Amino acid sequence: MLDKYTVLINKQNPVSKDFYKNYEIMETSGVENDIVKIEKLTFEKYENLKKYLNKTENIEIGILNAYRDFNEQEKICKEYEKIYGIEKAYKLAAVPGTSEHHSGLAIDITVKKDDGNFAITNDELYSENENFLKVHRYLSMFGFILRYPESKTKITEYDYEPWHIRYVGEWLAKLCYNEKKVLEEYYSGKK
Ligand SMILES: [Zn+2]
Repeated sequence: MLDKYTVLINKQNPVSKDFYKNYEIMETSGVENDIVKIEKLTFEKYENLKKYLNKTENIEIGILNAYRDFNEQEKICKEYEKIYGIEKAYKLAAVPGTSEHHSGLAIDITVKKDDGNFAITNDELYSENENFLKVHRYLSMFGFILRYPESKTKITEYDYEPWHIRYVGEWLAKLCYNEKKVLEEYYSGKK
């Protein structure tokens, strides 16, 4: 059943500034010793995923960020424009209103590197791809999907982001994983 957890948010399906009010947003701490805001059920499921990965794969994951408001998104856009130039910036960052992070259901996760520190920069994160690939295998068990897979960049209109996971609930996560679909494909198939 479609509900507030299965929502499609992208360039074509933006949300309003107070969209987050549909959810219970709570605070936790990120790997950079900062306060991270996140949707409550998403956090609970994340905690289960984290424990499971620790036990079965000996991988430690952490949170880089989750909920972001419009102002924070605007800041990221400006920063990325500076670093990557306008064209590349918007394949990595979403214009305010079009980011899944406005819901609190999306998490940018990180993995602990061999040196005991968490990967922080995009370069460091991409270098940990092998570990991320292991993580991706278990996401659907906890209701998460890999939102921007490498093979779907033309459909999602985003570069591959091994770190960006999205809570959608178990049934939809399993459907997407088994049928190798991204949310856009699931929703276009329903029309
Ligand atoms: Zn993200």
